[in-house]
Amino acid sequence: MNTPNSIDCSAAAEQLYAYLDGELTPEVEAAVRTHLESCAPCFQLLGFEESYLAFLRARAQARHAPEHLKKRIFEQVLFDRGAADPE
Ligand SMILES: [Zn+2]
Repeated sequence: MNTPNSIDCSAAAEQLYAYLDGELTPEVEAAVRTHLESCAPCFQLLGFEESYLAFLRARAQARHAPEHLKKRIFEQVLFDRGAADPE
C-alpha cells in the first residue's frame, strides 16, 4: 500500500483527473501535488491534462457557436497553453 506522502508515478497518474476536478481528500491532493512538483514527466502530463480539460470547457461554452468559431476557440486554448513557440 502506498502511504499518502509518497506516491509513485502510476499512482499520481491515476489520481490526476480527480486532482484536476478537486475530488481528492486534502491529504491525497497534497501527496499528488508534492509528487507533481518533484517529477518533471508527471508535471508535463498534468499540463497536458489541464489543456485537455480547458478544451472541453471551452467546447462546452461554445456549444451553440458556429463551427468555425469552435475551431478558433480550440486553437486559442492550444495557443494559450504554449503549443506555439512564443518567438
Ligand atoms: Zn512521476
